Amino acid sequence: MSPIAVNLAAVRARIDAAARDAGRDPAGIRLIAVSKTHSAAAIRDCIEAGQRDFGENYLQEALAKMDALARESITWHYIGRIQSNKTRELAARFDWVQTVDRERIARRLSEHRPAGLPLLDVCLQVNIDREPQKAGVLPEDVAALARLVADLPRLRLRGLMAIPRAEPAESARDAFMRLREIFETLRGEGLPIDTLSMGMSGDLDAAVAAGSTMVRIGTAIFGERG
Ligand SMILES: *Cc1c(COP(=O)(O)O)cnc(C)c1O
Repeated sequence: MSPIAVNLAAVRARIDAAARDAGRDPAGIRLIAVSKTHSAAAIRDCIEAGQRDFGENYLQEALAKMDALARESITWHYIGRIQSNKTRELAARFDWVQTVDRERIARRLSEHRPAGLPLLDVCLQVNIDREPQKAGVLPEDVAALARLVADLPRLRLRGLMAIPRAEPAESARDAFMRLREIFETLRGEGLPIDTLSMGMSGDLDAAVAAGSTMVRIGTAIFGERG
């Protein structure tokens, strides 16, 4: 097995254990391998180990890897900051965009999603800890943006995503619970969302305990970023 395949198996085991501890079915947690700064060859090692979902943060870097891996069947998730002049390429090349945080970006992604492709799956990024340097819609503004996005013709609103403050660990746990609450409130209001994208290498266990349905793991699979 390649080192990456070994890491991937360890991450899957961690997800299974966290799910069991929480009384959840591990099949309800989707693993996104975050491959930013890592090569197409590293992604190929993951694919050989059965991984299909990959997350990227930088458009140009992602496009090069998509071209190199064009023959593989991969689901590509965009998890980086969105500049409005990049929405055309994002909408054409990605399957998911998890970092939608404002109306203008959502409208442009919908306008630019090519007619021949399925609807673009999107999550709203929530600035759950109200950190000024972080992207994301503020918790009190999520519901209005969610209703707007749910009505856009070429987008399919799937759920919410957040990157809580990492330290201290109790603070991340609390943030995951607050995101879960917003998610449940929106569902209670009838929005057909199914995705709670939270949990990274350092905190995936806490995220699964709080109800995460999608974890985004980079370092624990590919090693430290250069
Ligand atoms: C880089 C990144 C990750 C992965 O982080 P690790 O700590 O390396 O697992 C997850 N989500 C987002 C949005 C990221 O930018």
